[in-house]
Amino acid sequence: MRVFFIGFGQAGGKIVDMFIEQDKKAPVRSFRGIAVNTARTDLMGLRNIELKDRILIGQTVVKGHGVGTDNVTGAKITADEIDSIINTIDSRGTHDIDAFVVIAGLGGGTGSGGTPVLCRHLKRIYREPVYAVGILPAPEEGRLYSYNAARSLSTLVNEADNTFIFDNSAWKNEGESVRMAYERLNDEIVRRFGVLFRAGEVGKTGVGEMVVDSSEIINTLRGGGVSSVGYAISEKVTKSSKQKKGFLGGFSVKKKDNAEEVLTGEDKSAKIIGLVRRAMLGRLTLPCDYTTAERALVLIAGPSDEMDRKGVEKSKSWVEENIAGVEVRGGDYPLESSKIAAVVVLASIGDAPRIRELLEIAKETKEDVIKSKERRVTMFDDDSVDPLFE
Ligand code: GDP
Repeated sequence: MRVFFIGFGQAGGKIVDMFIEQDKKAPVRSFRGIAVNTARTDLMGLRNIELKDRILIGQTVVKGHGVGTDNVTGAKITADEIDSIINTIDSRGTHDIDAFVVIAGLGGGTGSGGTPVLCRHLKRIYREPVYAVGILPAPEEGRLYSYNAARSLSTLVNEADNTFIFDNSAWKNEGESVRMAYERLNDEIVRRFGVLFRAGEVGKTGVGEMVVDSSEIINTLRGGGVSSVGYAISEKVTKSSKQKKGFLGGFSVKKKDNAEEVLTGEDKSAKIIGLVRRAMLGRLTLPCDYTTAERALVLIAGPSDEMDRKGVEKSKSWVEENIAGVEVRGGDYPLESSKIAAVVVLASIGDAPRIRELLEIAKETKEDVIKSKERRVTMFDDDSVDPLFE
């Protein structure tokens, strides 16, 4: 799939920068990306997005210093400057893309407020689907972050065609701060979504047994709402004499040699089914009740001689038995690698505890803000002293 990424705010910008870095190492270029922010220093810190594709907004309001965690200001600035954002997107070319993907941390200010606004306008202007990848804050970041995330997400689900969720708290290790974990979490995001968004863009590696094309991803995501992604990777399936780090990080590029183990068809199927089960039952980007997913996509990426139609079909049936809906699409995606990866997209999820928790926190926070306003007394409430002027 050819994707136009827009990284909104600090987290979004950093992650899109990493997607572009990954794309530079890929056999076929599939990604294009820009970053939008109200904070100049965040934009300056990027390494792979070209300077002309880093858009500073809100200069007259916040002077390049960011909006803090005020997502209402983030939304307002985005709405006021939407034309210049769209002009930059247009000037980068959109005629050959399959989808837009807007990425942001939903707990902050710029990305949290700006993403729903941008999604609305992209949908109004372009025919291609508009997806969001929303990062949820960890509880330790405080109530304001949770409140922002809940408001942003509640708005976003009505503006984007589908919203993938990555929950920071589910991914950071015990005792580790969210900040310390960013690099590892971002690697995880870029690896999973890299395999998914690149599906269908076949290089010189050969044709798979049943290649997934972008229309299947688009159809899977058509129902809207929020989606979660599972991922599992095999041990090395082929031995290699020479290895270099591939564009999928731990997914290394290799040259096959004659000494490799030859698997029978049954073994290949079993390996694929095992990987798909691990992907779906392991840690998802958003931990959720997978039995409430309406649709799913099963994607197998790896060396073309390891692809196996029966394995993919059986995996799809297994996923279908386990989710609420009956629409399970899938296929393979051959690439030069010594490992096989399975990606399972659980689309339009009905229940995720973390989202329910965020919405609850947001409700309580709103009530507390109202109560504290009502209770507020100040030393200057007494009007027996006349002010200098009214
Ligand atoms: P903004 O610049 O105002 O949009 O806000 P930020 O992007 O800095 O932060 C918003 C949320 O994103 C917070 O919950 C942060 O924990 C999270 N966040 C910030 N940077 C990263 C990052 O590099 N990776 C991940 N996974 N989360 C991040």
